[in-house]
Amino acid sequence: MDLSYIINHLGEEREQYFGAAAPPIMQSSNFAFPTVDEMRKGLTDEMGTPFYTRGHNPTVAILRKKLAALEAAEDCLVFASGSAAIGAAVMSCVESGDHVVCVQKPYSWTAKLLSNMLSRYGIETTYVDGRNTQEFAEAVRENTKLFMLESPNSMTFELQDIEAITTLAKSRGIATIMDNSFSTPLNQQPITLGVDIVVHSASKYLNGHSDIVAGVLCASAERTAQIFASEFMTLGGIISPNDAWLMLRGLRTLPIRMERVAQSTPKIVEFLESHPAVKKVYYPFSASFPQRELAEQQMKAPTGQFSIELQAAHIGDVERFCNHLKYFLLACSWGGYESLAFPMAALYGSANYGNTSLPWNLVRFYIGLEDADVLIKDLEEALALIPVEA
Ligand SMILES: *Cc1c(COP(=O)(O)O)cnc(C)c1O
Repeated sequence: MDLSYIINHLGEEREQYFGAAAPPIMQSSNFAFPTVDEMRKGLTDEMGTPFYTRGHNPTVAILRKKLAALEAAEDCLVFASGSAAIGAAVMSCVESGDHVVCVQKPYSWTAKLLSNMLSRYGIETTYVDGRNTQEFAEAVRENTKLFMLESPNSMTFELQDIEAITTLAKSRGIATIMDNSFSTPLNQQPITLGVDIVVHSASKYLNGHSDIVAGVLCASAERTAQIFASEFMTLGGIISPNDAWLMLRGLRTLPIRMERVAQSTPKIVEFLESHPAVKKVYYPFSASFPQRELAEQQMKAPTGQFSIELQAAHIGDVERFCNHLKYFLLACSWGGYESLAFPMAALYGSANYGNTSLPWNLVRFYIGLEDADVLIKDLEEALALIPVEA
């Protein structure tokens, strides 16, 4: 199925709603049936029938078809947040007494799910750097049920060799989950590399406008149905019809947004790599990135996120640099229209993030849809405030 068809037409039954180009927001919690018999039939397939919106909503159903197709998955569920999707995916794979191997620096709340919550239910997690597949093999125990992957990972973007790891997992009967938020399905399709469950924070690229929080889970029809009947319906972290509609609107421009950041970001990274006030750049597609070859093999195009370590003597240098940026908002997240800077210096002293191992001079960037030259000028002016020895 071609991308244009998926984005513009798949799942849209326009004859059912007056030929409207934009689908309606089916803002209803429940759906009525003409007879008891039809109601009974509806209940035999709550996942596929408009019965109650926690289970099925027609606006959300359009999204499910598109997202599953984008990820080369059989089916998909949409959640109220990426974290809700990750929680449901992980819980569907483990029970008390099981063991998980997770990459060392996943999205922070993924680590908290494993270390702070699931540990209370007798599930143990081992963290591995993940760049070397052998580390997964060595961490496997008899009770290992899940490899939790995030390639590239958050903040410093280490990659895992997805195919090698899923081959290992399959040989040991271990399930694999990949957080694919970084790449989007346009740049990386983990299911085609053997991953069982793909999860996304759709708050990022998939929606793309920084106006909703949402999550996605893609898997085989069988697995999705199991998760639907258990974690999804029980915990109930569903997307609202209104947010589903916004995400459908956001998805229309996903290919051109990804094209734009693939063009502008490497230009900006190149500028930073040659600047004396920049100590190190972390970007999977840059010349200096140690896993660049794997990035090019596994991912189709560069994306808009990278981090830099500033050549700063004090945290005050980092603050002066960040505070001076005019086009970059100081904010978390990424994937919207707007460029962002997220300094690790802001984590220091925070109750939930204060124990970070990330250096204080690290700033993560996201390149939005602005003109690359304008952003370079903004960075140049702010970098001039960092005193560097000649
Ligand atoms: C933001 C993010 C999440 C969490 O998603 P929410 O939509 O904020 O709940 C998970 N994984 C990655 C890689 C993220 O960037």
